[in-house]
Amino acid sequence: MRLRNVPGARDVMEENPYVYTEPKGFKGRWKAEFGNDHPLYIEIGMGKGRFITENARLHPDINYIGIEKFSSVLLRGVQKQNELELPNLKFIRMDAEEIEEVFDSHEVDKIFLNFSDPWPKDRHAKRRLTSTRFLARYKVILKKGGFIEFKTDNRPLFDFSVESAKEAQWPIVACTYDLHNDAALNEGNIMTEYEERFSSMGNPICKYILKYPED
Ligand code: SAM
Repeated sequence: MRLRNVPGARDVMEENPYVYTEPKGFKGRWKAEFGNDHPLYIEIGMGKGRFITENARLHPDINYIGIEKFSSVLLRGVQKQNELELPNLKFIRMDAEEIEEVFDSHEVDKIFLNFSDPWPKDRHAKRRLTSTRFLARYKVILKKGGFIEFKTDNRPLFDFSVESAKEAQWPIVACTYDLHNDAALNEGNIMTEYEERFSSMGNPICKYILKYPED
């Protein structure tokens, strides 16, 4: 994601009713924040937020939280939500490194990772959101029997992610190296901003679905 410092973006986040900039105090209380008992789906690294916003619009009985590190990127999603005012959509500005401090054990029903930053240098592999280090964090916050869905056009990152899932013993219950030509997995697919951009350049999209590991 190209970063542009948008003047005032931070201030908008501090004041916006849909954004949590100090989310740690809400650990274990997200259902109460939404005011219902619906399942909670999160997208980590939501970027400008088209995917999560469209999901929230289509599925009013599911609560969605989009997580993004940078205010300047999150801004677009927040502006859209200011217009739509979807009751089942909230945003957290945070680094996913701290995810266990924000969600309680098994508080999350599903995790989406879309076009996560590849961190191509080996010494940065631990920062990849599909690394075994992050899978260990997801194992804490995701409910038992829950799923992780990951999409990317970056083949080296996808290969790394498949290996990491195997190493961490997360069953891969679905996998494709060409999502848009896979009738079953592509059904109901909601494209992200990056997905639209890279697939229009001819890049095939890879996707896997992981299931919470059995004990
Ligand atoms: N998911 C969007 C899409 O598919 O269009 C955006 C993809 S963009 C390549 C990756 C996004 O993840 C960026 O906006 C980046 O700031 C965010 N991100 C990367 N690492 C993150 C982290 N550790 N915590 C939160 N957000 C992160």
